[in-house]
Amino acid sequence: MEHDDKIQKTDEEWERELTPEQYRIMREKQTEVPYSGKYVHTKDKGVYRCAACGAELFSSDTKFDSGTGWPSFAEVLGNDRVKTGHDTSSGMERVEVTCARCGAHLGHVFDDGPTETGKRYCINSVCLDLDTGEARKPDQSA
Ligand code: FE
Repeated sequence: MEHDDKIQKTDEEWERELTPEQYRIMREKQTEVPYSGKYVHTKDKGVYRCAACGAELFSSDTKFDSGTGWPSFAEVLGNDRVKTGHDTSSGMERVEVTCARCGAHLGHVFDDGPTETGKRYCINSVCLDLDTGEARKPDQSA
């Protein structure tokens, strides 16, 4: 499937736009320290966007407390929003999750989720931007 809005940037461009920690995780596929991220315990309603490109990735409705120290979701907003790939780094067999739009590493997905989807998307906080929709509410003054 063709994604017309795909974003491709050089490492130098990403390095300028992302924080050092975001670059380390989203471009170099490292992992944030568990319980260190700002969204681990967040229950606010909204849409979690990719922190690198703004693509809408997860709904707060599917977020659950996995007890792992990373924000966890039962499903993606749309299956075409992320890509998955086999990851054997760190001596583990895992399925890596990347943003379909910009290619940023987001985290991993596991098959031990507690909801009916059976999935646990284990995502680094630093890769996400919670959009609570305040700015997008319809203008009622008109
Ligand atoms: Fe992205």
